[in-house]
Amino acid sequence: MNTAIWFDLAYLMGSVGIVWGLKRMSSPDSAGAGNTLAALGMGLAILAAIFYPLGDADNGNLAWILGGLALGSAAGYILAKRVAMTAMPQMVSLLNGMGGATAMILGLVEYLRLGSATTDFGSNLTVVFALLVGAVSFSGSVLAYLKLEGKVDDKKITLSFHSVFNLLLLALVLGGTMALSYSTDWGIGLLVLFTLLALFYGLSFVAPIGGADMPVVISLLNSFTGISAATAGFVYGNLMMIVGGILVGASGTILTLMMCKAMNRSLWNVIVGGFGSVAAGVATDTNQQVKSVGLADAAIQLAYSKTVLVVPGYGLAVAQAQKVCKELDELLEANGVDLRYGIHPVAGRMPGHMNVLLAEADVPYPKLLDLEEANDFLNQCDAVVVIGANDVVNPAAERDPSSSIYGMPVLKVWQAKNTIVMKRSMGKGYAGIENPLFFEKNTYMLFGDAKQTLQALVAEVKGLG
Ligand code: NDP
Repeated sequence: MNTAIWFDLAYLMGSVGIVWGLKRMSSPDSAGAGNTLAALGMGLAILAAIFYPLGDADNGNLAWILGGLALGSAAGYILAKRVAMTAMPQMVSLLNGMGGATAMILGLVEYLRLGSATTDFGSNLTVVFALLVGAVSFSGSVLAYLKLEGKVDDKKITLSFHSVFNLLLLALVLGGTMALSYSTDWGIGLLVLFTLLALFYGLSFVAPIGGADMPVVISLLNSFTGISAATAGFVYGNLMMIVGGILVGASGTILTLMMCKAMNRSLWNVIVGGFGSVAAGVATDTNQQVKSVGLADAAIQLAYSKTVLVVPGYGLAVAQAQKVCKELDELLEANGVDLRYGIHPVAGRMPGHMNVLLAEADVPYPKLLDLEEANDFLNQCDAVVVIGANDVVNPAAERDPSSSIYGMPVLKVWQAKNTIVMKRSMGKGYAGIENPLFFEKNTYMLFGDAKQTLQALVAEVKGLG
C-alpha cells in the first residue's frame, strides 16, 4: 500500500488539531485545552515531516534531524520555563525570528540547488520570495527583540528621511527578487549580496517603529514569518507547511489590523509614521503638582462607592499583583460595590496580557469590559483604580495632536468622579511620554509597588468592616 497516504492523513489530522485548537483559544475557558490540542496537532505534523522524506532509505539524515530536534526542543523548553510573563513579547519576537531564519536558509539552499537548471520563473520566484520574506522577518524580529529588551534606543537608529530610504530599499530588494527569479545563473556572490540586502531591509523596516507601536510590528513580523513558511511549503510541496504558514500569516495579519484599529491608526501610518520622529507630546507644566491620597482615605472612598472600575496595566504584571487585586475585588463586592475591569487592547506587553493575568487570579470573565464598554461604564463610575497602567489612560491621546499616541483610543478614566493611580513614581510608560492625567483635579496618586499597596489597601478595607 502507498505509505504516502498515511503521511497525508497525519498532516490532515495535524491541521485539524491546529485549526480546532485556534478556535478553542477564542475563549479563556477553553484556551488551555485549545493550546494543548494545537500542540498535539503540531507534534503529529512534525513527526510526519521527519519520516515523510526518508522513503526507503534515510540517506544518513535521520541522526542530523533528530539531533537538531532534540537541541531545539531543549533550548525552547528551557527558555519557556525561565521566561517571565512580562518578557513574553521578547520571546515571541525571538522565536518568530527563528522561523524567519529557517525560511531564509531553506530559500538559500534551494536556490543553490536549482543551479543553472532550466526552471520556470514561477518556481524560482517561490524560492526567492521565501528567502526574502524569511530574511526580512528574521532581522526585523531580532531588532524588535533588542528594542523590547531596552538594548536599542528607537530614536537613535532612525534617519530623517527614513520612510523614503525604506521605499528605495524595498524597490531594490523587489528588483533583486525579479532578477534572481528570471535566471538562476547569477552565481553565489550575488545571492549572498541579495540576502544581506534583505536582512538590512528588515532592520531598516523596524528601525523607525517604536514605543506604543511595537505590538503592531511584532504581530506584522509574525504574519511575515507565516507567509515565508507557507511559501517554503510550496517549494517542498509540503501541505502542512502551507496550511500552518497560512494560518500564522492570516492570524498575524488579522491581529495586526485589529491592533491598528484599536490604536485608531492605519497600518501605513504605523510603518512610515516613525514613532521616534514625532514630538513626544507637549511638555507638562513642571509647576503643576500632583495630589496624593493616603491608604485609609483610598479604602473609605472605594468601600463607599457604588461602582468602581479597575484599570490594570503593565505595572500590575510586573508586581504580580493580580491575586491581591482579586482579594480587594471580593472585599469590595461583599460591601455591595459593583466592580468591573477595563481592559485596553494594548495594556501590558502582549495581546491579551491583562486577560491572562486576571484569569490566573480567577476573576470571572463577564467582569472584564473591553475598551468601548469600559468607556460607557466610566460615565456612571464613582471611582477608578488605575493599577500600573499609564499610556492606556493618557488623555494626551485625545487632546494633544503633537503627542506620539494622539488618536489612539484610551480609557477615559478622567470622566469618573475620582481616580486613584497606583504606581511607584512619576515614571513614564512604554511610549516614554508625560501623562497629564496625574495632574487632573480629580486624580489622586497612591505611590508604591502595586502588590504592596494593594495588600495594605486590603488590610485597610478589612479594618473598615
Ligand atoms: P505602561 O507601560 O504605559 O505603564 C506602566 C506603568 O507601570 C509605568 O508607568 C510604571 O510607572 C508602572 N509600574 C511599573 N512597575 C510597577 C510596579 N511594580 N508597581 C506599580 N506600578 C508599576 O503600561 P500600559 O499597560 O498602560 O500600556 C502598555 C504600553 O505598552 C502601551 O504603550 C503599548 O502600546 C505598549 N506595548 C504593548 C504591547 C502589547 O501587545 N500589549 C507590546 C509592546 C508594547 P512607575 O515606574 O512610576 O512605577
